[in-house]
Amino acid sequence: MSDAAAAQGRGPRRRGFMLILSSPSGAGKTTLTRMLLQTKALDLTLSISVTTRPRRSSEVDGIHYSFVTRRQFEAMRDSGDLLEWAEVHGNCYGTPREPVEKVLADGRDVLFDIDYQGAQQVRQKAGADVVTIFILPPSMRELRARLERRAEDPPDVIARRLENARNEISRWTQYDYVLVNRDLNETFNELRAIVSSERSRAARSREAIGAIVEELLSQP
Ligand code: 5GP
Repeated sequence: MSDAAAAQGRGPRRRGFMLILSSPSGAGKTTLTRMLLQTKALDLTLSISVTTRPRRSSEVDGIHYSFVTRRQFEAMRDSGDLLEWAEVHGNCYGTPREPVEKVLADGRDVLFDIDYQGAQQVRQKAGADVVTIFILPPSMRELRARLERRAEDPPDVIARRLENARNEISRWTQYDYVLVNRDLNETFNELRAIVSSERSRAARSREAIGAIVEELLSQP
């Protein structure tokens, strides 16, 4: 079945799953996320996080993040509106619960660009409906070069992100899949293959497959 057929429900109807991508800053995750979302046939919906981090000039409020004050963030967190949250590089980030639940209830899949702390919390809450992927950079030198090329953060922020990268990289063992991003197109193809296989997992469509099998077995 093609990506499109699976996404449009021409395969057995199934529960949506949560696809979590994590990596240290600069490993290519943002570009890969964009490539996945631009592939309409995959029909992935991005979970838009809330953050207290200042907006970068290239970012649009409500598209890349919802930018909030610390007070607003704490109010959301304290009233249980966040599926998960974490402090990353000195700022707070969190996933609003309601939009995710709506997409999943519709049988569609949600893509998350969140860190290892968030991945752990979502895994604890949603278990089998979560697929986690960690993207590694090919080398620390390349990671530094990508952060500097991006030139969107001041030098002290870049230095802090590089420092944190070592801790983040050491979390790879908690992920279902680990990809080394040597070549964007290759990594993208690997990601597509993972999405495709995960969509075919029998456990996600047990009821629908049961009905198909019943129909098959009723035939002479
Ligand atoms: P950035 O500031 O570069 O956009 O993101 C910094 C880090 O925060 C990235 O590793 C990103 O995956 C993570 N992040 C973004 N949104 C969330 C979120 O809602 N929850 C968690 N736990 N991490 C997030």
